[in-house]
Amino acid sequence: MLSEKDLERYASQLIMPEIEEEGQSILLKSKVLIIGAGGLGNPTAIFCSAAGIGNIDICDNDNIELSNLNRQIAFSINDIGHSKSRVLRNYCLNLNPNLKINSIINRFDNKFPLNDYDIILDCSDNVETKYTANISAHKHNKTLISASATQFEGQLAVFKSGKFKNLPCYECIFPKDLHQQTNLNCREIGIIGPVTNLISSLQVTETIRELFIEKSFKKKQSFTKNTLAGNLLLYDCIQQEITKIKLKKNLNCNVCK
Ligand SMILES: [Zn+2]
Repeated sequence: MLSEKDLERYASQLIMPEIEEEGQSILLKSKVLIIGAGGLGNPTAIFCSAAGIGNIDICDNDNIELSNLNRQIAFSINDIGHSKSRVLRNYCLNLNPNLKINSIINRFDNKFPLNDYDIILDCSDNVETKYTANISAHKHNKTLISASATQFEGQLAVFKSGKFKNLPCYECIFPKDLHQQTNLNCREIGIIGPVTNLISSLQVTETIRELFIEKSFKKKQSFTKNTLAGNLLLYDCIQQEITKIKLKKNLNCNVCK
């Protein structure tokens, strides 16, 4: 049962038949890990908190710099030099103090324990972390919602290779040998804030959907009927297009074959 305050706070969500009080309770009991507290991690953590995802861990070991402020919307000039994950956690708790939000000041690595999480949100800005998150999520049979954005483009995919053998993983789509040369981050090749924010909005929408799907909640409703898993959403802001591409599993993939 939701409290009076929660009924009021989440009124605009639970008024919809796709969510209702039960859906909001599922969100409040869920736990997600956000890897990266930068351009994607900022709006993703904010939208997760605003939507009432009850338990959120934010993992990042970087400190805030002036050049982050064109896109990392939880940070102000007073935060420069401070820990990204800690400042982001405080911003989110200010927005929604009843949630459990933890700051983990560490770089994500293959020893990071994932058992407690319902869903892993990859908001990192480097492919090395993306490959590590993919391997860990696959091993732990966790849904991985992977986002990235550079320059005027962004992409989002839901990976469930650990749960369903026929579905691809991140490395099926981006084989390591081909992508090692292109390991450039936002600082090196550029980004505008609205692109990261849009991709984060898509990421949190899919997070809410996947949390419902995991709990078999309202299986036949339009919102929860279809998962994005097995597809890639591409946003091209030069062409003003969002495209959905069907993905294929690589039967020789080093991670999920
Ligand atoms: Zn694979």
